[in-house]
Amino acid sequence: MQIAIDGPGGAGKSTLSKLLAKKLGFVYIDTGAMYRAAGLACLRQNVVIREETDKAVSVVEGTEIDLTVSEEGQRIFLNGEDVTGLIRTPEVSMAASDVSAIPAVRLRLVALQRQLASTRDVIMDGRDIGTYVLPDAPIKIFLTASSDERARRRFIELKERGENCTFEAVLAELEERDKNDSTRAFAPLKPAEDSIIVDTTELNFEESLARLYDIIQERL
Ligand code: C5P
Repeated sequence: MQIAIDGPGGAGKSTLSKLLAKKLGFVYIDTGAMYRAAGLACLRQNVVIREETDKAVSVVEGTEIDLTVSEEGQRIFLNGEDVTGLIRTPEVSMAASDVSAIPAVRLRLVALQRQLASTRDVIMDGRDIGTYVLPDAPIKIFLTASSDERARRRFIELKERGENCTFEAVLAELEERDKNDSTRAFAPLKPAEDSIIVDTTELNFEESLARLYDIIQERL
C-alpha cells in the first residue's frame, strides 16, 4: 500500500504523516530529508548550487546518501555519517530546494525512494510523490495552508529548537522555496490530478489529523 502526501513546506506533512504511519502500521518516509542531505553535502564543499550545477551533480554523485527506517523513526546518512540532526536549518532548506531542481540529482534520489517503497506499506511525503515518484499510489493527498500560517508554524518549531530567526525571514524563505519548487522544469510541486486537496489553514493539528485519517480510512 502506498500513500502519497505532497505539499509546500510548513503545511504539516511530516508531523501528520509520522503520526498517521504509526496509527496505520505503515512506514513513514520523508523524502525531503534526502534532498536536504544532498544540499548539506554541497554546502560542505562550498558549492554555489545555482551557479555550479555540474559541481553540485558531481558532489551528490560522489556521496553515498542512505536512509534507514525503524520503529524509532527515520535516519539519514551522508557517507555513513548520521546527519539527521544537521539538516533542519534554514540554510540547508534553501540548499535542498536549489539542489532538488537539478534533474540528475532527482533521478538518483527518486530511484532510492521507489526502492524504499517497493517492499513495504509506506506513507511517503514530498513534493512530487503523487505526480512522479509513485504515480500509481491509490491514495494521494495534497496538503496545503496559507503561506502566513505555514510560516507561523515553522517559526514556532524553529524557536522551540532554539534557532535564532525572525518570522519575516521564515516567511521569505518559505515563499522563495515555494516559488523555486513549483516553477522548476522537472517534477515541480503541484497537486496530482487524482489527489485530494486538504487546506489546513483553518484547522488545528487534531482536526488536520482527523481529516487525513478519515480520508485514508475511507479508501483503504
Ligand atoms: O520537505 P522538506 O521541506 O524537508 O524538503 C526540502 C526541499 O527538498 C524542498 O523545498 C524541495 O525543494 C525538495 N524536495 C523535493 N521533492 C521532494 C521532497 C523535497 O524537491 N519529494
